[in-house]
Amino acid sequence: MWRQEMLMEYEAVIGLEVHAQLLTRSKIFCGCSTAFGEEPNALTCPVCTGQPGSLPVLNKKAVEFAIRLGLATSCRIAPYSLFARKNYFYPDLPKGYQISMYEYPLAEHGFVDITVDDQKKRIKLIRIHLEEDAGKLKHGETPETAAFSYVDFNRTGVPLVEIVSGPDLRSSQEAGDYLRKLRSLLQYLEISTANMEEGNFRCDANVSVRPRGQKEFGTRTELKNMNSFRYVEKALDYEIKRQIDLLGEGGEVVQETRLWDVSQGITVSMRGKEEAHDYRYFPDPDLVPIRIEDSWIEAIRKNLPELPDAKKERFVNDYEIPEYDAEILTSTKALANYYEESVRLFPEPKAVSNWMMGDLLRELKNDEKEIEQCPVTPGHLAEMLAMIKQGTISGKIAKDVFEEMYRTGEKPEKIVRDKGWVQILDKGAIEQAIEKAMQANPRQVEDYRKGKEKLFGFFVGEVMKQTKGKANPQLVNELLKEKLKVK
Ligand SMILES: [Zn+2]
Repeated sequence: MWRQEMLMEYEAVIGLEVHAQLLTRSKIFCGCSTAFGEEPNALTCPVCTGQPGSLPVLNKKAVEFAIRLGLATSCRIAPYSLFARKNYFYPDLPKGYQISMYEYPLAEHGFVDITVDDQKKRIKLIRIHLEEDAGKLKHGETPETAAFSYVDFNRTGVPLVEIVSGPDLRSSQEAGDYLRKLRSLLQYLEISTANMEEGNFRCDANVSVRPRGQKEFGTRTELKNMNSFRYVEKALDYEIKRQIDLLGEGGEVVQETRLWDVSQGITVSMRGKEEAHDYRYFPDPDLVPIRIEDSWIEAIRKNLPELPDAKKERFVNDYEIPEYDAEILTSTKALANYYEESVRLFPEPKAVSNWMMGDLLRELKNDEKEIEQCPVTPGHLAEMLAMIKQGTISGKIAKDVFEEMYRTGEKPEKIVRDKGWVQILDKGAIEQAIEKAMQANPRQVEDYRKGKEKLFGFFVGEVMKQTKGKANPQLVNELLKEKLKVK
């Protein structure tokens, strides 16, 4: 196969630049709302549309949010940082420059840990800085408007953090894991919805390949336009293969920016890669440097919520569940809350974890739903687990109860009552079912008695069929053994 052979010889080197929209109510340099879905250009003012004479004023909340992220990723928060102008022309950028940070970013030298083959792998963060978003272009789609492009400045000036990783990722899988971890962090910190499909969590990738063992990096390309986790992984795989093939044929990788083409599933050359000096960065004279007091940093640090890694460790220690379970259950804050609420109501952590990791997550995945949209509440799950424990329903029937709860959102108690799924604990009734099963299968009874013990399972199945799966399995086992004994 191509993959194995070529990947043995070469290794990929990937660094990611992530832009996440911060959840402030107003834009980064003016009082305009950051609301989504308003009429085009309804949320604009002279500042965010770059009118002459207007002056930007920094939104303190945006700085606070960026510091939170910096602390959560073990960055050093710079005591002094500075906004710069990144100059370029594009119709969605009315000022002709984007206010960003260049020489003096807000935070540096952090890391994010991911799990690779059960081992912790540390991905370095080079920097985190603040910047403003650009507007949006919309191209006419009807025959009458096809010749026109429209611009919407509502998004212009919405605050972003840019998070730049080191070239530490070695596969599309690692890149995906890193992005998921970063998204989870942003959500835990409540500073971004970090939703890739909605465009408030965007990612560009720098990709190169090199022969294994070589220290120097190969020539890299920059990938853009990957707006879902799946596309990031696909685009990276495609680009890694493209570069390895090129080198394998004796060709050279050209440094350039490439776009992911969703419909064709390939990356295509967009333009030669621009260098930092092309942007003529210089300090923005309209904005004073930012000085961040230690006391402010400490106040923010004190108010940080419990983060995914710490929560995972606590789940392993306090609830005594496997690390694998804990990792998944803490992957989002909402999922972790759901778990803890369920365990509070039904204090058997492993049982709760089993049902969540199994039936619950499977149903959600099938429906492409998040835990927030789960029709089964922690209360209902706990109630169902209590019914199994009390012997009201069997573990087998519980699977059906769960499905029904998920489908209808009803309480398990009502479902069990309406469907008549209460477990049969009555010895007489079970004995009757056993008699019937034995009468219907005299040959098997004989064989069993002659020593073919494997048939025991067959009889259990028959009895369960007779009782529609409602018989208490333990009682069935006990009574069957007795009845099947040689008389
Ligand atoms: Zn504005």
